[in-house]
Amino acid sequence: MIKICPLASGSNGNSTYISDGKVNILIDTGISATRIIGELSMLKVGISATDAIFITHEHSDHITGLLKISERTNAPIYASCGTARGIGERIDALRGKIKCIRAGETVKVGNLRVTAFDTPHDTYESMGYRIETENECAVVATDIGRVDDTLLGNLLGADTLLLESNYDKRRLRYSKYPAFLKERIVGGRGHLSNDECAAVAVKAAEEGTRNIILGHISAENNTPDDAYTAVHTALTQSGIIPGVDVMLYVAPRGKRGELVVVGE
Ligand SMILES: [Zn+2]
Ligand SMILES: [Zn+2]
Repeated sequence: MIKICPLASGSNGNSTYISDGKVNILIDTGISATRIIGELSMLKVGISATDAIFITHEHSDHITGLLKISERTNAPIYASCGTARGIGERIDALRGKIKCIRAGETVKVGNLRVTAFDTPHDTYESMGYRIETENECAVVATDIGRVDDTLLGNLLGADTLLLESNYDKRRLRYSKYPAFLKERIVGGRGHLSNDECAAVAVKAAEEGTRNIILGHISAENNTPDDAYTAVHTALTQSGIIPGVDVMLYVAPRGKRGELVVVGE
């Protein structure tokens, strides 16, 4: 069994809870420790039961609660060496406290196998994670500038895919964001648009993914409805019926999303 629940998703904070019913991991801790602890308690999980923490990259919306959470649990914290360096530069007390892992490397947490893969984003060395049990697989991938074939290979084949659907192209074009920031977002080391996410979602569903969770939705340049509609339309146009062939969820900003369970 793999359970996955976004505790928060978006540029104001990201954290995702994943469990096989025995061990508990967090991917990112980008909201306050108080909120992480509160959302976990709604899932009947104590923070001290966290077995490992994996960080995608050092942007504050992914590490805000990390220091306080690390003080409340003995769980090891994993990230790429580049992200470990980035965290150390931002939070002195965490310098040297992060265990470095490389893309392609697998960490065993109980019966969960967590494999890191590279993602293109404007940081030292951002990564996404593929979490597997014997029979199930979930992938968490946000903060992605582009999806090339290598990255696509890491996104496909999961039962549940939490994928970034950051911005609507038209909303971004007309938004009040300064030009340099717009260029950063659409660039190869920025974020995925709804259309780019939809293209991956179609391929994932064609390869058997049963749950797609749209995440990291921009507050200024997107809406949950726009993201949902873009992906829903692309799936339907490809002959895939959302709600029947694949379940489509939107991870809400600023609060816990649905708990998605695969397997028994
Ligand atoms: Zn982010
Ligand atoms: Zn980022």
